[in-house]
Amino acid sequence: MRLFGACVALSSEDWTIERPCGSGLAVHGRVPWPGMKILISADMEGATGVTWPADVLPGTPQWERCRAMFTSDVNAAALGFYDGGADEVLVNEAHWSMRNLLLERLDDRVQMLTGRHKSLSMVEGIQHGDIDAIAFVGYHTGAGAEGVLAHTYLANSITGVWLNGARASEGLLNAHVVAEYGVPVVLVTGDDLTCVDAEGYAPRARKVAVKDYVSRYAAVCRTPARTAADIRAAAKEATALAVRHTPVEGGPFTVELEFDAEHLAQAATVVPGVVPSGERRVAYTSATMYEGIRTFKAVTTLVSSAVEEQYG
Ligand SMILES: [Zn+2]
Repeated sequence: MRLFGACVALSSEDWTIERPCGSGLAVHGRVPWPGMKILISADMEGATGVTWPADVLPGTPQWERCRAMFTSDVNAAALGFYDGGADEVLVNEAHWSMRNLLLERLDDRVQMLTGRHKSLSMVEGIQHGDIDAIAFVGYHTGAGAEGVLAHTYLANSITGVWLNGARASEGLLNAHVVAEYGVPVVLVTGDDLTCVDAEGYAPRARKVAVKDYVSRYAAVCRTPARTAADIRAAAKEATALAVRHTPVEGGPFTVELEFDAEHLAQAATVVPGVVPSGERRVAYTSATMYEGIRTFKAVTTLVSSAVEEQYG
C-alpha cells in the first residue's frame, strides 16, 4: 500500500502509527510493512565526474552528460540494496528542479519520486513511516567549507549555516530530520570530504568517495564503472544497518544562516520566527528538525527570489 502525500492512521494489536501530515512526529517503532524499504535521497553535486557548475545546471550539454553518471551512481546504490535483501527502493530526486535522473536507466524494481515542491524537500517520503533506512547519494559539503561544489541549498548566496553553533551541511540537517523518524543513514556517497563530513552525522554509515577534492571546481575522478562497483558493494553492506531505531528527540534546534549580502538577511526575516543575529546573519529556533527544515526551505525560497543577477 502506498499513499504518498496522504495522511492516514493505521493500527493493529501490537503497534500504532499515525502518519504525520503537516505537523508533529507520531511514528513509533517499526511499521510492520511486509518488507524492507530504502529511501535514496539523490543530489547531483557529489555524483561521479561532476566538478563544475554547468555539470549540474539543467539544460546544458555538460548536464546532459553528467546526469547519466548521476543515474549510474543512484542505480548502483539501488542494486546494492537489492543485493543486500531490500524489498523496495524509492529514489527521491533532491537536486535543483529535481528532474535530473534518467528513469528509463534505473533497475525495473526502483520507483522514483521526481519533481520539485515537496514539503520535506531532499528527504521527502521519510514522513510516511514505511522507510527502514536512507542513503545520501551524490551529496556534498556545506557552504563555506572545502569540497567540490560546496554549498548549502543556494549555490553562493548562503555563505554558512550553523546548527546549534556547529557548521552544518545538507547531510547534517537531513540526518537530524530522518533521526526524528527513527531512520538511520546507512550510505553516503560524494567526494572524499563529503565522506569525512558524514563521519560526524552518520558514523556507522558506509561511505563511498567517487572523487577526491582538489578545489571547489576540480577533483580527481574515478570512472562510472568503477564508482558503480564501489557504490553497489557498499550499499549491499549497508543493508545490514537498515534497522530502525527509537525516534530521536534532539531539539530544540537553533539554525543560523549567513548570506553574502545584507538585503538577503533582511528578506529572510519576513519568515515568522526568523530574526537578525549579526552582520548578514539570521537565526531561528525550532522544537523539531521537521519544523526546522521546513523553515529552512521557506527562508531559502524567499531569499533566492531576492537575489539580483548583477549584485547578488
Ligand atoms: Zn545539495
